[in-house]
Amino acid sequence: MLYIVATPIGNLEDITFRAVNVLKSVDLIAAEDTRHAGILLKKYEITTPVKSFHAHSDERRLNEMISYMREGKSVALISDAGTPGISDPGYVLIRRAIEEGFKVVPIPGPAAFLTALMAGGAPTNQFLYLGFIPAKKGRQKFFTPFFDTKHTIVFYESPHRLLKTLGQMAELMPKRNIVVARELTKIYEEFYRGTAEQALEHFSGAKIKGEFVIVVGPDGHQ
Ligand code: SAM
Repeated sequence: MLYIVATPIGNLEDITFRAVNVLKSVDLIAAEDTRHAGILLKKYEITTPVKSFHAHSDERRLNEMISYMREGKSVALISDAGTPGISDPGYVLIRRAIEEGFKVVPIPGPAAFLTALMAGGAPTNQFLYLGFIPAKKGRQKFFTPFFDTKHTIVFYESPHRLLKTLGQMAELMPKRNIVVARELTKIYEEFYRGTAEQALEHFSGAKIKGEFVIVVGPDGHQ
């Protein structure tokens, strides 16, 4: 059996009772980064064995996890933050587990894009999640069709590319209102609301730190 367990995106208290109980009761935790996972596991006194499973894990590690489940053992997949499989490793393991006929059980919890949408203030009845946009070539081409949509758009951006992205957005969609959600659930949580140009001005100057989600409101949204 494979459990897919969502863990906090910052504030360690954002974890469900069920997630803690599952992590305590499974035979193995497959974690994106074992050291990172250790902080959470220590806080909740979870002593289950942990093995790494990340984006660069090879076929051998995947097979190891599958053999483990074939023996009737249960595995819980966690990522460094939020929901595994959402812009995070896990897809190949989840897919293989389904193909092999194992029961796959989601244990829901935080995801950064949903947390940003919750308090961002843009309409959330329909939205488009883009994950991470391309880091280098083809960004403008990638962006353009999405910015033509009438729906709210949400995506992840790294601190190194924030200003570049805001600059491109200011050119492509100068009138649309956006929300830059930074360090969600953490001490320096911030929601900056305005146009891309205003956001660019707001974030320019100081060193850009933290984790970011960008929400783009639909055309005409205040
Ligand atoms: N699986 C995660 C989820 O469910 O949201 C996403 C993992 S992805 C590798 C990491 C990106 O998510 C960060 O670069 C950032 O854009 C966003 N993110 C994660 N935690 C965040 C937070 N506390 N505040 C703002 N953005 C966050």
